[in-house]
Amino acid sequence: MKKDESILSPSHLAAYSDLFDRLLDCSILVDFDTNRIIDANPACERLFETSREELLKRNFLDLSDPSQSAFIEKRIRMAKRRYYPHQFESEWIVKSETRKLMQISACPLRLSNETEALQVIAKDITEQRALEKQAESYLKELQELNKKLEDLSVTDEMTKLANFRHFKNLLKQEHERAKRYGISYTIIFCDVDHFKHYNDRNGHPAGDDVLRGVAEILRKNSRTVDVAARYGGEEFVVLCPQTTHESAFSLAERIRSSIEKHPFLHAESQPLGKVSISIGLASFPFDGLNPEDVLKAADNALYYSKKNGRNQITMSDQISKDKPKAA
Ligand code: GH3
Ligand code: MG
Ligand code: MG
Repeated sequence: MKKDESILSPSHLAAYSDLFDRLLDCSILVDFDTNRIIDANPACERLFETSREELLKRNFLDLSDPSQSAFIEKRIRMAKRRYYPHQFESEWIVKSETRKLMQISACPLRLSNETEALQVIAKDITEQRALEKQAESYLKELQELNKKLEDLSVTDEMTKLANFRHFKNLLKQEHERAKRYGISYTIIFCDVDHFKHYNDRNGHPAGDDVLRGVAEILRKNSRTVDVAARYGGEEFVVLCPQTTHESAFSLAERIRSSIEKHPFLHAESQPLGKVSISIGLASFPFDGLNPEDVLKAADNALYYSKKNGRNQITMSDQISKDKPKAA
């Protein structure tokens, strides 16, 4: 809204030329019809390292790269039609090798000789933009590092499976979900058979290779919803959400048979003539009403597989069925 011209505020009384000369940003008056520069303040002289007289010989469009002319012309046309300043950014070539990114505000200005000029105020934002870009790239780097750190904190370094701490958290979450929706989940507990024998015979680094191989088989055979983790040492767990132990059994069997068939180095010198694992299965809610109890039940079932000769799967509910009934 235009000001009521009958009221003269202090700013009306001030001389425009005073502000024009002392402004730290570049201020330019541009001829409305030809876009020729008709005035330029000392800040412009400093930026272009040239005199006002030299600047008055130039056209406003020529301050930027010729490829920008159409864009700037369009912006100037828009500015000429508006009362409030129209803002845009443009790169000025201040010397043959130096370019500056300018934030430009332009609006029509009525002069006392009844003509109109385009008033341009341009702020050099080259450094500010460079700093913003640098801050952006630091932020991106920081986000990437944070992601790496986060991955490291949930991953077992050797096998690249989830670590047990992460597994415990996911198990807790799944347990709450299962409880709320009345669904079940199953835990598959695995332990490499006679692994001490393997290490003693073939050395620790070869043992590490076996653990990495077992982890890869667990990863390949698990569904995307399953969470395979290293429990510790040569023990692994798989959490199968929304899965009864009958369906988890087929996954466990795929894992068991893939491992006994896998051509691990020196497998033939193991007591069973192959690298194998024993497995125990337990499900919520049948084998335990909290996560710790389900995990314990799976561990007990695993122990049963070991006792019964290894390289086999035991379901938790099987143990009670197999136990001789007390007289
Ligand atoms: P079982 O069939 O009863 O499970 O016998 P086992 O020999 O596998 O079990 P035991 O608990 O006696 O030995 C486990 C071995 O696993 C002992 C330990 O040195 C080895 N082990 C644990 N963590 C690692 C590891 O990160 N790398 C290697 N190479 N060996 C490991
Ligand atoms: Mg063990
Ligand atoms: Mg073992």
